[in-house]
Amino acid sequence: MTHDSNATLAARARAVMPGGVSHDLRFRAPHPIYFARAKGAEKWDVEGKRYIDFKLGAASQILGHAHPEVAEAVSRQMFEMPYTGDCHPLEIEWAEWLCRLFPSAERVRFTGSGTESTMLALRLGRAQSGRDKVLRIDGHFHGWHDLLLKGSKPGANTPPSLGIPQAIADLTVVAPPDVEAIAGILAEDPRIGTVFVEVSGANYGSVPLPDGFLPAIRALTEDMGHVLVFDEVITGLRWSPGGRQARDGVVPDLTTLAKIVTGGLPGGAVVGKAEIMELLSPANQRDGLAPPVSHKGTFNAAPMVAAGAVKAMEILSTGEVQAHADEMAARLRDGFNKVFARHGIGALAYGDSSTCHLYFGGTSIEGLDAATIRRTPPVLVKGLRDALLDRGVDFMSFTSCVTGLPHTPDLIDEAVAIFDDAIAALIRDG
Ligand code: PLP
Repeated sequence: MTHDSNATLAARARAVMPGGVSHDLRFRAPHPIYFARAKGAEKWDVEGKRYIDFKLGAASQILGHAHPEVAEAVSRQMFEMPYTGDCHPLEIEWAEWLCRLFPSAERVRFTGSGTESTMLALRLGRAQSGRDKVLRIDGHFHGWHDLLLKGSKPGANTPPSLGIPQAIADLTVVAPPDVEAIAGILAEDPRIGTVFVEVSGANYGSVPLPDGFLPAIRALTEDMGHVLVFDEVITGLRWSPGGRQARDGVVPDLTTLAKIVTGGLPGGAVVGKAEIMELLSPANQRDGLAPPVSHKGTFNAAPMVAAGAVKAMEILSTGEVQAHADEMAARLRDGFNKVFARHGIGALAYGDSSTCHLYFGGTSIEGLDAATIRRTPPVLVKGLRDALLDRGVDFMSFTSCVTGLPHTPDLIDEAVAIFDDAIAALIRDG
């Protein structure tokens, strides 16, 4: 364990890592916080300060940090056979779990991350449809690669990054979450063959989808012959053991997965209809070597990950963990809303499943678009996040939380009391 302060580590980090971070969203001024230990729903930074954690590994650790059964399964596998780059029995067991849990899963292909899953799903969508363009919903996030980054920043029709060729961006069509509007766009542009939806709604549900959107987009894409991809990287095994598709009974052609589905370890998966997924099979080529759709990846289904994932599937398949996490999120939302009411603030804590999001533009988000909901005053948001971090509460992002197995009513109530104190201080300081 290091005994350096966060500020000292940040100075070292900045000398060797751009911004001192490994992910855009880990950047923080004046410096990030560097963590040294995590257990359950708590974590400690290098200075020994404790935080109640509502980030839970970017929503991947629904079982909590260092869950003993997952940790044991992974460490046993590390000694037995961490990774050889070969086929192994655990990947079959893991794929069988996914086929049992997810209604759309007739076949499974493991990947290296959620981003890789959406890349592969789009390649499959293009191969199946024979059409190059993809339609995606404004504000939804599908990873950081070139192909789907345009539209991830709500209300912007250009990719939020330099380095993405215009020719690639031109293949991505951004639409509002409005099935009638989407029907019009699809009818007008015969080059669109694939439709992507983040099934929580944008930003893991901070902009929920309109009621009835998923069945309607399913019916539309089926009628018009488009490949429908549900991005369940966040919702898979969180909204229910079989994701949102199992909870709502709407089955896409392909589903992208990562985070919880990999036991909170690095990796991902694409699952879907056999007819499309079999394009990945080299056995479908006469020489049995190159498949119609190519996909590789050194660490796909690595045994050390598969061991943790299979253990996580066993624990999460009953739905009890999800029910507990949902209850804790409801308690958190209720607590935050009471704080807003007590301080006379026109704001709202809301969210589906085990999420909690904050909106500071009023007490309802009904009918608001993604750009409006996400347009929280930046000064207020940064102030709140800093005030919470100072007091030992970490959110998943500036205004969003997720809950999991290790959150207890006591931890939730402690976090709500800290939130109350942070809001009171922000009001006091103007
Ligand atoms: N899709 C969604 C809905 C996500 O939330 C994320 C990451 O947060 C991704 C895809 C990308 O996953 P990864 O970070 O594993 O590349």
